[in-house]
Amino acid sequence: MTNLFDPELLDRCISCGFCLPACPTYALTGDEGSSPRGRINLMRALDTGVLDVDDPRVREEASFCLGCRACEPVCPAGVQYGQLLETWRDLQWTGRHRPVVAWGLMTVAARTSLLRLVGLVRRPARGAAAGATSLMLGCFERGLFPGVSRAARRLLPGVAVPADQGCCGALHAHNGQSHQGEEMARRLGEQLPGVIVTTSGGCAAHLATVLGRDRVHELSEHLVATGVTPVGEVRVDGRRARVALQDSCHLRNGLGVSAQPRALISAVADLVAVPGEASCCGAAGTYSMLRPRDSRRVLDPKLDAVEAAGVDYVVAVNPGCLRQLDTGLRRRRSRVRAVHLADLLADAAGGRALPRPRRRALRAR
Ligand code: SF4
Ligand code: SF4
Repeated sequence: MTNLFDPELLDRCISCGFCLPACPTYALTGDEGSSPRGRINLMRALDTGVLDVDDPRVREEASFCLGCRACEPVCPAGVQYGQLLETWRDLQWTGRHRPVVAWGLMTVAARTSLLRLVGLVRRPARGAAAGATSLMLGCFERGLFPGVSRAARRLLPGVAVPADQGCCGALHAHNGQSHQGEEMARRLGEQLPGVIVTTSGGCAAHLATVLGRDRVHELSEHLVATGVTPVGEVRVDGRRARVALQDSCHLRNGLGVSAQPRALISAVADLVAVPGEASCCGAAGTYSMLRPRDSRRVLDPKLDAVEAAGVDYVVAVNPGCLRQLDTGLRRRRSRVRAVHLADLLADAAGGRALPRPRRRALRAR
């Protein structure tokens, strides 16, 4: 098969290499084949039939890429790498090449009845069914971090929280089923009236691609855009808390949202800049499950930097990043706690208290 990719997207790359320093997998290996330019060359080889999906290097690189899109904002030619990767994985991750873990997660996420059951057990936010703005509950956030949507609801008292809402389909779009991912986003757009507010940077980017930028707001951009001023202060041991931010890749690289969460954190705590805070944490959707060793290779230097900065909290704006940071910090028994931005702001305002940083780090990895 040939002509598999949209030529307008594939031909845009001028092979300049400006994207190489931004790519985390290139930084790990120093190998051109594991860079954005190298991967686009593999896509071209697929497109012309020089290589096929069974080629070991093609298979490896389709999976090794984090899909973080850090190559996009630095590209002078405007290559939309994320879209190319979705097409690549549609071709690559089918039949016997489909990762079983990703398939299992997608099957669960696609069943709204199962998500409703998770919601009954884990009790995420509840509220009115209709309004000018709707809060999206997410699929895995509903089960793993139900307190995040409750905190977001406290920050946005007028927001509607329709109970009957499915998954946005980002998981499908990034794991070889982009058409189903689009369809699920459209369906969610019908279930959630008005502007959709989400506490997940990854979901925001996917939904905005399908429904349009005006319909979708990530929480921090919504709070800033609507002029909500955070109240209170987060304190630790009688002082203002020191807080770092881990950017969400798709929020930053796909939607260009990075100043808003920083402004909100600065309003309630001392924001501490940490080297590498804008690069991928290795969660990358299903990546941490499909490639746990590579995921840790990406995460560990980041956690070293967070600990060296002497912060109390590291804030995530995406549930996958929150899980990744929390797991990594617990594994090394760090005193630093990973929390979601919604929880930080709700704590400052006198809502549900955050877990306190541990007194002493018990280093164990
Ligand atoms: S993706 Fe963009 S930055 Fe990277 S080689 Fe192609 S044109 Fe250059
Ligand atoms: S998406 Fe991330 S890991 Fe993949 S090529 Fe681009 S920068 Fe590298």
